[in-house]
Amino acid sequence: MTTGKLHSIETFGAVDGPGIRTVFFLQGCPARCMYCHNPDSWTVTEETEQITIERVVHTAKRGRPYYGKDGGVTFSGGEPLMQGAFLSEAMDALAEEGISTVIDTSGTYIDEFTQKVIEDSQLLLLDIKHSDPKKFEEITGLKQDNLLRVIDLANEADKPLWIRQVIVPGFNDTEENAAELKAFVKQRVKNLYKIELLGYHNMAIEKWDKLGIPYKLRDVEPMDRGKLARLSQTIGL
Ligand code: SF4
Repeated sequence: MTTGKLHSIETFGAVDGPGIRTVFFLQGCPARCMYCHNPDSWTVTEETEQITIERVVHTAKRGRPYYGKDGGVTFSGGEPLMQGAFLSEAMDALAEEGISTVIDTSGTYIDEFTQKVIEDSQLLLLDIKHSDPKKFEEITGLKQDNLLRVIDLANEADKPLWIRQVIVPGFNDTEENAAELKAFVKQRVKNLYKIELLGYHNMAIEKWDKLGIPYKLRDVEPMDRGKLARLSQTIGL
């Protein structure tokens, strides 16, 4: 029986996809983003909780009265695409119940299951850490290649992409960066659902400290809301 590696579950999620959603945060991520909110989701250990397909369906069905026409299930992480076999089966089982699925991915992992998972998803939430390959690598510790391939696969499947980017003061909080992101999306994304800029916050520092991982952005203030709104306007939001 295929099981997933689970970080946590959120019921009544309202920000990780359209409508009200049950969000399964899966454990394991190849990236090491310098502002990650969930550094405790990076590694899989013997203590990592396993979740069965049956439990996914059972949990998702409990939220069904609240989903309406847009809501459903979101698989987030960590990086959910690392668990393609599990995702593929879980999404099939949810589809049989009439429950649609969104994948919330950083596009940093790809394997033989990725294409089917993308094809089966309602839309993809795609966190483009940076449009510039060098800055992308600086943030994540990874090359941008998998992200570009994930966008290509989404385009081939004509899948809507809900693009996100975290805006960090002093790093990518310029009009120029916003314009670059807009141009990157315009050039590469065929079916755009929307672009959303998210303000950096430092609420995860405690988690990093607890795990004993040095936090590089310790002196960076949370993103100013007014400036974020102005950058969003630049992008046409
Ligand atoms: S991709 Fe997401 S979970 Fe992985 S390190 Fe980056 S922010 Fe954290």
